[in-house]
This record gives sequence, structure tokens and C-alpha cells, in this order.
Amino acid sequence: MPLRRFYMQNYNTLSAYWKQKFGTRVWKIPLDAGLDCPNRDGTISVKGCIFCNELGSGTGLDLNCLSLKDQYNLFRDKLLSRHGSIKFAAYLQSFSNTHCSPEKLESILSQLKDLQDLKVLCVGTRPDCLDEEKVRILATFPCDEIWLDLGLQSSCDETLTLINRGHLAQDFSRSCALAASKKILVCAHVIAGLPGETRVHFLQTIDFVNNEPVQGIKFHNLYICKNTTLARWWQSGRYLPQDINDYALWTASAISRLRPDIIIHRLTGDPAPGELLAPRWASGKNSILNSIQRVMTEKNLWQGKQWINPSRL
Ligand code: SF4
Repeated sequence: MPLRRFYMQNYNTLSAYWKQKFGTRVWKIPLDAGLDCPNRDGTISVKGCIFCNELGSGTGLDLNCLSLKDQYNLFRDKLLSRHGSIKFAAYLQSFSNTHCSPEKLESILSQLKDLQDLKVLCVGTRPDCLDEEKVRILATFPCDEIWLDLGLQSSCDETLTLINRGHLAQDFSRSCALAASKKILVCAHVIAGLPGETRVHFLQTIDFVNNEPVQGIKFHNLYICKNTTLARWWQSGRYLPQDINDYALWTASAISRLRPDIIIHRLTGDPAPGELLAPRWASGKNSILNSIQRVMTEKNLWQGKQWINPSRL
């Protein structure tokens, strides 16, 4: 599906794209469907990715026995009172939201039908948790736009093995092709500063994403959370986190290398309250965004400036 460019700064932002498409702001509401992850529940491993803690990027709201509808309405009411008339994207965020039977997936989605002001469905999952049937079920969800938030992190299989992802880059490609066959949009998640990786590796991951049927990307800095393997590596000196200047430079370079039509969903990760060990700058979202923008301005970069267009090779 061809997407137009939505420049707000010198790159495409999701908020500008949605504003243009829907004529109003669209806010993501994070939801917890109570699923687990095959890399944590023993299906393929019990260790998880080296940076993952017991929250699995989740809200934990399912632990409070809130139904998906109640979780959605809780956030919707708060956001409406703060921002007035806006629309929403339901984001199944916690753990791997297609790590279940097709029947269970249908049951989860049926709870999201008919939610008020819902425009978009976003489903976070792993590339090894998708098959044709699940993609077909997702594609039939009644809303204006469906995104798969698909963790890639790195295109280097050696790195994926080192960080215990439990899948390879080719699994990501296979899932992208499945999603494309049903016109589901894909947002690739990538991480800067993975152990053993240089800026060259990171830009190779961007080149890999550019060549897949991907319409969105989330950039994450690798921060260290309590109770993770990465925390032990950091405490023993095996891993040193990036400094903010490196992260800003790597991300600005990646934006410049990114295909011009891809929509940037995020430029930095958001540690949950109390989970961050290091680096301290990871909790300052605004200063990270400002640092990236500063590098882009100083180096006169914009999205796609250094994109390697395969048709010109
Ligand atoms: S895939 Fe996600 S939830 Fe699963 S172990 Fe890795 S980071 Fe955690």
C-alpha cells in the first residue's frame, strides 16, 4: 500500500500521518490481553531477550483483572478529558499478542469490536508467532487501519542469537510477506546499541528494513532494566550502554538512510517507572529528541537523504 510522505520536521511522523488521514489527533491506548511470550514461557526459552523484564513492555493492567474494554475506556476517558475530541488506536502491546490459538486471537479481537472512537488496531508480536490463519483473522478486524508491531531489533543473526531473541531475520521477512498479502501495515522495531554492534551494523539493519514491505519503524535505545540478563552484563562490565550523543548520531544517520515513505512511530524507548538502571539519560525523552534533531540540523540530514534506492543500483 503506497503511503504518502508526512513531514512535520525532517522526517515522517506517525502523529502527522494520522492527523492528515483522519483529520484529528489519534492517540494510542496500550492494552494488555494477558498473553505471554514464547521466549519467556518455555515454548522456545524461559530466559527471554537479554533486555526484557517481567513486564514484557506491558501495562500490567490485565493483572488487575481489567477487561480489554475497561482498559480502553479507562485511558479513553482520561485522554478525552485532557485533549477534547480525539480518536484512538487500540495497541495490544504487552508480550506477544499472537502467541495463542486462532480461536483465542478471535476472542481477543471480538472484545475490541465496537469500541467508541476506535480508528486503528496495532498488534505487537514476534515474527515467529504469525501464520496465514492468524494474519487472516487480524485482517478481518473492522477498523480503518491495522498495524503489526513486529520486533526485528537487528538484521544480524549473530546479534539476534547473542541477545537470545529466539528468531532470525528471515522470520521477520516471512511475517512481513504474510502481512503484505493481507494489506496489513508493518511497523519494524529496531534497537541501537546492541551488544557487539557498531553504527555500521545498525545501518545494515535499516537497509534490511528498507527492502521489506514495511511502512513504519520504531527506534529504541538499549537501556538496562532491573532483573534482566543485560543488567547482569552491565554490572559485570560485559556491556556498556551508549551515551546520548552516540544514540543521537546513530538515529539521525538511520533516519537519513531510511526509505522516504516509511513512517517513524517512535525515536526512543520509554522506561516504565522504577525499572531503569542505566543509562540515566534514557529517562529524558525530550532531551533525546532534541539531541537527534540537533544532529540532523547540524549535518543537514533529512529522511531518505542517504537512502540506497535499489532501482538505482
Ligand atoms: S520478545 Fe518481547 S516479551 Fe518476549 S522476551 Fe523478547 S522482549 Fe520480552
